[in-house]
Amino acid sequence: MSKISPSDLIHHPYRPPTGFESIQPPSYRASTVLFPDTRALHSWRWEDKSAYTYGLHGTPGSFLLEERIATLEGGRYCVLAPSGMAALTLSCLAVLEQGDEVLIPDNVYGSSRAMCEHLLARWGIACITYRATDVQHLQDCISDRSRLVWLEAPGSVTMEFPDLLEQVRICKTRGVLTALDTTWSGGIAYDSFDLAGSGLAVDLAAHALTKYPSGGGDVLMGAVVTDDLDLHRKLQFAQMHLGYNVVAEEIERVVRGLPSLVLRYAAHDRSARALARWAASQPQFVQVLHPALPGAPGHEHWLQLCGSHDAAAGIFSVIVDGRYTSCQVDAFCDALRLFGLGYSWGGPMSLAVPYDLAAGRGGRWPAHLKPGTLVRLAIGLEPVGELQADLQQALAVALPV
Ligand SMILES: *Cc1c(COP(=O)(O)O)cnc(C)c1O
Repeated sequence: MSKISPSDLIHHPYRPPTGFESIQPPSYRASTVLFPDTRALHSWRWEDKSAYTYGLHGTPGSFLLEERIATLEGGRYCVLAPSGMAALTLSCLAVLEQGDEVLIPDNVYGSSRAMCEHLLARWGIACITYRATDVQHLQDCISDRSRLVWLEAPGSVTMEFPDLLEQVRICKTRGVLTALDTTWSGGIAYDSFDLAGSGLAVDLAAHALTKYPSGGGDVLMGAVVTDDLDLHRKLQFAQMHLGYNVVAEEIERVVRGLPSLVLRYAAHDRSARALARWAASQPQFVQVLHPALPGAPGHEHWLQLCGSHDAAAGIFSVIVDGRYTSCQVDAFCDALRLFGLGYSWGGPMSLAVPYDLAAGRGGRWPAHLKPGTLVRLAIGLEPVGELQADLQQALAVALPV
């Protein structure tokens, strides 16, 4: 017989003293959550965050991060999701029914479009694309079946800042729910629940925490924030029914990233604006798409929404003159030494991605953009002078004037 029974180790009586305080909160892991008695087991409710019932329904760590993200976005309630994409899907599945229409902007995040057009379409939810830069077109696209309008400010890749205030006003007037992808804002550049101090609010704010809140380029997570308890309950149940879980290690990483978020965002912003201004003076680039740059598409709407905070994400796109082939543009990207090649952004390393823009837009090049090849640049935390020198040498190597 073994000297010790497994029970001695499973049911060990020692409890460490309470009252341990450190700067970062502890990490909690559980599938099973123990109840003190059957009365608790029968009566405890996880939805109002007053108790724990099962790992999938929440841990102290997930509740804590949800509260911090709600504060960051300026809303009351938050639900976490295992990626930004999962947060977008969760928002749709929480509020849409068969026969509904969902509206998306033409410059929407690409995977968001794919989700609406493929996944939702199979379940009898129609997807309508409206022009992000044309509020009248949004107005015209709304029908009696419209249930949810996705908004993005600015749009992905082409970075047009829409007239968000007017878009939200139109949706409110027509009684359609609004969901704003707030990833670019990072909870910092604009107030989703008090747009430009107007008191106007979106219904749902979906955020890819993968980007700035994580800040490491090594986490996937998303969140949906709302001020409306009824919508929040729908999101909570959809999250539970889908079995979406966010693991403790990822929660820990995002909680650790949040204290430096405001400072990092400002640093990314400063460098990106300096590089965007510099890029605008390079003959190889025919257009620079950064909403804080005067003359960029939607600049006046950026001013209206983000001007009082004077904030923008550290990401912008350049259009390389159409006289260079896409192979030459690829060679430019390959010649970069500090910029990595890769998707996503918000981490320490600067990244470049050449985009086949027309492919994602029904084969059409947007009329308000100059023709050429688009390259998106996500600016990391390297010194801005080194990044400019890197771009300069890659231009000289691959795109001679
Ligand atoms: C990255 C991103 C997402 C998706 O986030 P993932 O965590 O990568 O799934 C959604 N919306 C926007 C605008 C993004 O940039």
